[in-house]
Amino acid sequence: MSVLVYTESEQGTYKKVAFEVASYARAIADQLGTSVTAISINAKDPSILGTYGVTKILNVQDSKLDAFNAKSYANVINQAAAEEGSEVVIVSSSADSKYLAPLLAIELKAGYASNVVALPTNLSPFTVKRTAFTNKAFNETSISTSIKLVGLSNNSFGIKEHATEAEVTHYSPSIPDNGVHVESVDKVTDKVTIADADIVVSGGRGLKGPENWGMIEDLADVLGGATACSKPVSDLGWRPHGEHVGQTGKPVAANLYIAIGISGAIQHLAGINASKVKLVINTDPEAPFFKAADYGVVGDAFEVVPQLIEKLKAF
Ligand code: FAD
Repeated sequence: MSVLVYTESEQGTYKKVAFEVASYARAIADQLGTSVTAISINAKDPSILGTYGVTKILNVQDSKLDAFNAKSYANVINQAAAEEGSEVVIVSSSADSKYLAPLLAIELKAGYASNVVALPTNLSPFTVKRTAFTNKAFNETSISTSIKLVGLSNNSFGIKEHATEAEVTHYSPSIPDNGVHVESVDKVTDKVTIADADIVVSGGRGLKGPENWGMIEDLADVLGGATACSKPVSDLGWRPHGEHVGQTGKPVAANLYIAIGISGAIQHLAGINASKVKLVINTDPEAPFFKAADYGVVGDAFEVVPQLIEKLKAF
C-alpha cells in the first residue's frame, strides 16, 4: 500500500503544483504510516521529487504523452496505482488535473474529493476539508470507496521540503491510442505561468483596448508575476485565450491577485477566489469585485497603475 501522487510537468519542467502535491502526499503517507510513489510523465529531472518526501518515482518517458491528453494520462496513472496497490491517489487542482480527475476516478473506481485544502481530519472514514460554493464556504467530505482520489486545492498546503533518498524507476505503461491527437498551443516564454505565479496581474474590459496592456505587463514584470485577463478581453482578441481566468478559464490560486478594470462577475470570481490576497483597482465604487477584495483602490487605472509601477520601481 502506498500513496500515489501525480506530479505534473510542462515541457519537461515540473510545475510548482507538483512540489505542493508531493509535499501533501508525504504528509498523508506519514499519517498512514506508508510510503509515497510519484508518477512523473516526461519530466527531465525526476529525482528532484525526493526533496519533497517522495520515496519512489515511476519515471515515464514516452513521446506519445508529450501533449497532455486527459484520457491517456488517466489510463497511465490508473495502471501505476494498480501496480503500486495505492489506496490514496493525489492530483492538483490545475486546469489539466481538474479535467483529468473525473476520468481518473472512473478508472480507479474511486470516490473523488476536489478542492481539498488540508490533511484528512479522519482516516476512517477518510474525511477531508474542501472548499464549496466557489471558495465561499468549507465542508467535510468522507470517501467510503477503497481507493480515494484527492484533488488538492493549489496553494493551500504549501511546499514543504522533506529530504528523502528517492528511487527513480523507469516505467513503461501501455499507452492507449484514443484516436485524439492534441497539439499544445501554450507559448514558450521566459515568463512565469499563471498556474505557477505567486502574483498575478489581471486586466479587464476597463482597460479599453489591447494597446493599453503595456502597463499590465510592466506591473507584472516589476512584481515578478504573470499576466491574466477576464473572458471578454480574450474573446475580443485583446489577449491570448491562455490568459483568461475564471469559471471557463484557468483557475488562479496566487498569493496576490491584482484585478484592474475588472467588474468582478461571479464567473470571474469563481476562478480566482482561491487566491490569498485580492487587490482591486476600479473606477466604480459599486463594482462587485470590491466585496470580494482584501484591498481596493477606487480610481482610474490609467492614473493609478503607472504611479504604482513608479513607486515599486523606486522601492
Ligand atoms: P466589464 O464587466 O465590462 O467590467 C469592466 C470594469 O472596468 C467595470 O467594473 C468598470 O467600472 C471598470 N473600469 C472602466 N474603466 C476603468 C478605468 N479607467 N480604470 C479602472 N476601472 C475601470 N468572465 C470571466 O472573466 N471569466 C470566466 O471564466 C467567465 N465565464 C463565463 C461563463 C459564462 C457561462 C458566462 C455567462 C459568463 C462568463 N464570464 C466570464 C463573463 C462574466 O459574466 C463577465 O461578463 C466578465 O467577467 C466581465 O468582464 P470585465 O469585468 O473585464 O468587463
